[in-house]
Amino acid sequence: MKAIAFRGVHDVRVESIADPRIVEPTDAVVRITTSAVCGSDLHQYHGRVPGIEPGAILGHEFMGVVEEVGREVRAVSKGDRVVAPFSISCGRCEWCRRGLPTQCSTTGRAVFGGRFGKQYPGAQAERIRVPFADFMCEKISSDMSDEQALFLGDILSTGYACAENGGIRPGDSVAVFGCGPVGLLALQSAHLFGPARIFAVDRVDYRLKLAEELGATPVNLDKGDPVEQLRRVTGGSGPDVALEAVGHEVPFAQAIQAVRAGGTVSSVGVYVEQSIGFPAREAFFKDLTLKMGICNARNYIVPLMPLVQVGKLQPARIITHTLPLGDAPRGYKIFDQKEDRAIKVLLKP
Ligand code: NAD
Ligand code: ZN
Repeated sequence: MKAIAFRGVHDVRVESIADPRIVEPTDAVVRITTSAVCGSDLHQYHGRVPGIEPGAILGHEFMGVVEEVGREVRAVSKGDRVVAPFSISCGRCEWCRRGLPTQCSTTGRAVFGGRFGKQYPGAQAERIRVPFADFMCEKISSDMSDEQALFLGDILSTGYACAENGGIRPGDSVAVFGCGPVGLLALQSAHLFGPARIFAVDRVDYRLKLAEELGATPVNLDKGDPVEQLRRVTGGSGPDVALEAVGHEVPFAQAIQAVRAGGTVSSVGVYVEQSIGFPAREAFFKDLTLKMGICNARNYIVPLMPLVQVGKLQPARIITHTLPLGDAPRGYKIFDQKEDRAIKVLLKP
């Protein structure tokens, strides 16, 4: 089958590899109908993820149709349309039972196409082996398109978790740092918690424009210090809540500096560095609440699905490109370089 392999910095290639097969009796093999390029794939593309080997198959956002199941799989069967979370979890270990499937000790916190724990090939491919299929696979009803369902496994759940962790209360002002796919879905999700105003920070004009269409006031980084700009538009105090969806120390620090005393910073950007500097003293004296982390997307797939079905969340609005899988190298390039007004790039095998 065709799959997208990492070959070096800014070098991903379409390669021919063996089809996946059932290895464990709890596996399923899924024929992928749609996958995508995630901001997290860009960290690998930039060569910033330690341990990534040339030839690794990338990608962790996918949905598709079950093609084959192992003999112990009960919850799904051949022909079912399913979505799965980006992280791989057994559903049975202590961490999974505590509601933290991303910490699964059976897989060692594995992610499809990732470099932690056990290594599982990624989802930018024609097929994928999904371990622990009973826990991992969620059936999608036929009234949902791939475009509506796909992001439940990663960026919609992550954006929602970011907003939820912000503890937004009715009437609050919220600043979203980063108008990439994750930030835009955090913005959409933030509306569900009843804020009075949402500000969206980025420097890419067409991304700010979509943020505006989604109900935010744009704050352009290139028009001055975003901390000052946010203070000015919030009567001097700063927003109640900042949602960080970039994954760099600069916006994390800016979020801490911008938010009002007693406010909350919720961060979902992935920090590939071991440690980052941040204004701890300011966070301390302002009495902030800080929340960060990888998203336990499995926990959100079921509760968010009806919100998508009734249109209260419209994840498909961020899709700008749908390319054949074979065009993935171009998909990475335009998403990374922000060419051709790219926001979210889908890949169709
Ligand atoms: P992206 O790279 O398209 O988005 C980042 C956006 O931030 C860009 O539009 C960029 O212009 C903007 N930006 C850069 N510096 C900024 C600053 N100082 N202030 C405000 N905006 C700034 O990627 P994405 O797909 O939206 O992903 C965003 C982050 O979320 C990545 O770090 C990704 O790894 C992470 N992520 C985390 C999880 C999780 O489980 N926590 C899941 C998915 C993605
Ligand atoms: Zn992702």
